[in-house]
Amino acid sequence: MTHPTDHFKATLQTAVSDLLRLKQDLLLALKNEGFETCEWQREDNERNTWRSSCGELWSFVEGGPIENRVVFCQYCGKGLELLDAESSREDDK
Ligand SMILES: [Zn+2]
Repeated sequence: MTHPTDHFKATLQTAVSDLLRLKQDLLLALKNEGFETCEWQREDNERNTWRSSCGELWSFVEGGPIENRVVFCQYCGKGLELLDAESSREDDK
């Protein structure tokens, strides 16, 4: 038996992932216009620690940058770009 909340959660999750994809597209478009970003990569899965491309470490008490609505890097002030460890695309620079 499916609980109504399960359906709601699934819908919400789809909406969130759609939004995240849109955000990435927007970020890419902005970067093409010269907008600078700071890339954050998860450093430690157990401790919510992230490493920024400007060379700093940040730990969240709970959740990650998305859950905590981090939009800009608090160290260099550039727009935050998350490097998704799961979709490890081969970005050759
Ligand atoms: Zn930074």
